[in-house]
Amino acid sequence: MTTSPRPPLTGKTRLVGVIGWPIEHSVSPPMHNAAFEALGLDWCYVPFAVAPERVAEALAGVRALGLRGINATVPHKQALLSLVDELTPAARAIGAVNTVVIAENGHTLGHNTDAAGFLRSLREAGVAPEGASALVLGAGGAARAVVYALASIGARVTILNRTPARAEALAADMAGAAAGEPPRAGALTPEALAALGPTADLVVNATSLGMWPHTETSPWPEEVPFPGGAFLYDLVYNPRRTRLMAQAEAAGARAVDGLRMLVHQGAEALTMWTGVAAPVEVMYRACKRALEGG
Ligand code: NAP
Repeated sequence: MTTSPRPPLTGKTRLVGVIGWPIEHSVSPPMHNAAFEALGLDWCYVPFAVAPERVAEALAGVRALGLRGINATVPHKQALLSLVDELTPAARAIGAVNTVVIAENGHTLGHNTDAAGFLRSLREAGVAPEGASALVLGAGGAARAVVYALASIGARVTILNRTPARAEALAADMAGAAAGEPPRAGALTPEALAALGPTADLVVNATSLGMWPHTETSPWPEEVPFPGGAFLYDLVYNPRRTRLMAQAEAAGARAVDGLRMLVHQGAEALTMWTGVAAPVEVMYRACKRALEGG
């Protein structure tokens, strides 16, 4: 697909954006603006640095200014839950809103596109997660979307987390959404990984271990063999190849990073706002360029 420079902003340009704190490292503005250019849409995506105590004002402001929608990133995804007019079942179950659709009359609908983005990217990688045995490492915000996505399509999920109480709370929260058996939970220890690793079809790293600047860290201890028959999905995308991915590949496992999830959650949001199919590969290349600093 060829792209042409975006037309100058006019009174007809439609605006969307992202709120976060901080926001300067977000790749969403280049990703969405590249998509609008490729589609020839007179839309523009703007980053907004919004302090945590000003989220309600920010939502009222973007509504008053006529924006068609916003994305939310850390730390605003939870705050929006109680601020939007309506929530989708996924956003309510996950407990986080990452996309708001603002109707002409100002009505705000809070979605969570992280879960759908994760599933789409997993299927794209050739993994059929229905009925699979999945080991999810971590119980923070990203893990909530992943566990919801996997449990709701009938995967057998075990959550392991440094703080086991958080894993147990997450498993309990997602029990109602599970199509099959409810998720199980435990502590992220070498013993648990050694016992459960060999039974896993899919391992998902939803901890922040391995993420820049702590690129030497991994949630999987070197002394525990990584299951060579499992598929590793590392949600970290900076760096593109994490230490955990290297461990998995050395054991013969297939491994992907989290960049395609980021792209697919953005693609879902773009389609909700515009009604147009998103140019996923254009968005992927724009993210790659932004991350590589090119
Ligand atoms: P979060 O809510 O802060 O959760 C962090 C998780 O990592 C918690 O489970 C935490 O355990 C665990 N953790 C942190 N330090 C640890 C350590 N030293 N040892 C063991 N566990 C540790 O963060 P998040 O928003 O879920 O993000 C997690 C990762 O996913 C990040 O790398 C983020 O970039 C990535 N992510 C990717 C996408 C994507 O689209 N690809 C989307 C969202 C997030 P405790 O509960 O014990 O603190």
